[in-house]
Amino acid sequence: MTEPEYPGSNPTWMGTTATEDAGEWVIRGHKWFATGADGAAFAICMAVTDPDAPEPHARASMIVVPAGTPGYDVIGNLSVMGDRGGDWASHGEVAYHGARVPLANLLGPRGRGIVIAQQRLGPGRMHHCMRWIGVCERAFDIMCRHAATRQIAPGKPLGTRQIVQQWIAESRAEIHAARLIVLRAAWRIENEGLYAAREEISIIRLTVARTLQRVLDRAIQCLGGLGMTDDTPLAFWYAHERGARIHDGADEVHIDAIARRILKSHGMTRG
Ligand SMILES: Cc1cc2nc3c(=O)[nH]c(=O)nc-3n(C[C@H](O)[C@H](O)[C@H](O)COP(=O)(O)OP(=O)(O)OC[C@H]3O[C@@H](n4cnc5c(N)ncnc54)[C@H](O)[C@@H]3O)c2cc1C
Repeated sequence: MTEPEYPGSNPTWMGTTATEDAGEWVIRGHKWFATGADGAAFAICMAVTDPDAPEPHARASMIVVPAGTPGYDVIGNLSVMGDRGGDWASHGEVAYHGARVPLANLLGPRGRGIVIAQQRLGPGRMHHCMRWIGVCERAFDIMCRHAATRQIAPGKPLGTRQIVQQWIAESRAEIHAARLIVLRAAWRIENEGLYAAREEISIIRLTVARTLQRVLDRAIQCLGGLGMTDDTPLAFWYAHERGARIHDGADEVHIDAIARRILKSHGMTRG
């Protein structure tokens, strides 16, 4: 979906097009952050098929493009936080130079690409939050073990310091809170459906990503130089999970969505 030349935060505005010609889609455009493009058997391309549809959300469609299609070009993997990755753990830059695929490669109804994307992004955000809570728990455990055993003076563990106790108590409280709001969002999806839970999903995505970064930061601080080395997983998570506040909607987009809904329910009509 995401393109270097257009704001990924506004999915109704993109440059990639798919036009019909002789029973085929002809796709032209430029994408990046195509996760797992490296080695994938096919891409799912979001392209504008109906530029004149009055509703901006009804202009793009999803189209399956098999790897090897002439005109479909995986330019390479982006270097993200110093790592190009490989295979599924990579983010590709992709170009479509008039790639032609059958009309039957349309995924779902025409003009419904953004609706389909939202269907996946909601539960996807839930999965991210669950995984981040797991990372938090592991980082918390590493921090606590270090605080309990690292001696800052003979017979004085690091955990006797009030600032370290604060990191531990606050992290525990924040991880508990994160788990409970994720469970509540899951309950709403299960009982009331994805649409009804959309505000809840924005709230967990925003909150848990920030909790994750605070817990990782405190754990690294607690371990000192050891926290910066690759002898523990903390440094990897710190770099790898920075994207948590950007992908699947940047923090600011979720803040905007949450606040607008709340203000609408309080009578605000335009923004
Ligand atoms: C690790 C990773 C994996 C990704 N995987 C995929 C993938 O598989 N497929 C895919 O299509 N994309 C993927 N992305 C792309 C991701 O979805 C976009 O980076 C994201 O949506 C933001 O779009 P952008 O980068 O174009 O930033 P922009 O839209 O240009 O926004 C830049 C910044 O501006 C601010 N901003 C934007 N809009 C607003 C607003 N309305 N109000 C206030 N502030 C605003 C935010 O701070 C935002 O971070 C991935 C990104 C990362 C980092």
